[in-house]
Amino acid sequence: MISFGRQSHSDYYPFDGPGGTLAHAFAPSPGIGGDAHFDEDETFTYRSNRGYVLFMVAAHEFGHSLGLSHSDDAGALMYPTYTYRDPERFVLPRDDVNGIQSIYGPNTDKDPSVEEPLPPTTPDACDSTMVLDAVTTLRGEMLFFKDSFFWRSYPQSSTPQQSLITNFWPDAPSKVNAAYESRHSDKVFLFKGHKVWAFSGYDLVRGYPKRLTTFGFPRRVRKIDAALYDAESGKTLFFVGSTYYSYNEARKTMDHGFPKRVDQTFSGLNGKVTAAVQYRGFTYIYNGPYIFEYRSRTLNRVLRNNFFLACSYF
Ligand SMILES: [Zn+2]
Ligand SMILES: [Zn+2]
Repeated sequence: MISFGRQSHSDYYPFDGPGGTLAHAFAPSPGIGGDAHFDEDETFTYRSNRGYVLFMVAAHEFGHSLGLSHSDDAGALMYPTYTYRDPERFVLPRDDVNGIQSIYGPNTDKDPSVEEPLPPTTPDACDSTMVLDAVTTLRGEMLFFKDSFFWRSYPQSSTPQQSLITNFWPDAPSKVNAAYESRHSDKVFLFKGHKVWAFSGYDLVRGYPKRLTTFGFPRRVRKIDAALYDAESGKTLFFVGSTYYSYNEARKTMDHGFPKRVDQTFSGLNGKVTAAVQYRGFTYIYNGPYIFEYRSRTLNRVLRNNFFLACSYF
């Protein structure tokens, strides 16, 4: 039985008005078992991120109706907190497929002519070969981007917290190329392809996304690979392949004499830059799974991803 109700609604689990609990469902059993109830006081939507996408809430609840409990995989449908996702592009994640198949077994009645999308997996901080998409600071914290996810490191916790990017910024793209925090304007910029998004706190700044050319890049630059804000000079460095540009945040113009080769300034770095960030006086430049740590412009040491991303298996 699927029903909508508000507050007390004929079971021992009253709803709580707008926000909070969105719905609940009962595990398989006789009587109320398998039933799903939705909180009438919520604003459910078809696909808008202003409100709760009914499809996502219902799919989660029907997971409970079928016998699934909550997952601690931040990408799973059965993760306990709601996150906005585009219902048109949603594919049941691997963790949920494994969960439901552990109860009912795999589908033995598949149509071989229908090609099904692969269940997406959640990036694993313990994967030492992982190449991050981007790294940035945000008001004293660090954010590490990979696919539709990011990890957020809190100064008071040793294990970075993973969540979907849309959980934080519903208007943000997934699989970004680069990110940086401008202390000058207190904004975070996310780059993907030839577009850039600016966020002030959780909110997309009016007028964004904009084109890369608004920063003064030449037209031939179709995407950038990494960006970092250099506190010493007040400049932002944009990395494109093994070269970089320097941008003046105060004057909003590109500096002359660029692009330069990265290894002209950052010795020892001869590969492609994949991510970059400045944190507590050190500059970290990622080349795949390796992190080159610089103090001023001098190479200090070479690290691996797990330097920042503590692996929670330990
Ligand atoms: Zn109920
Ligand atoms: Zn649930």
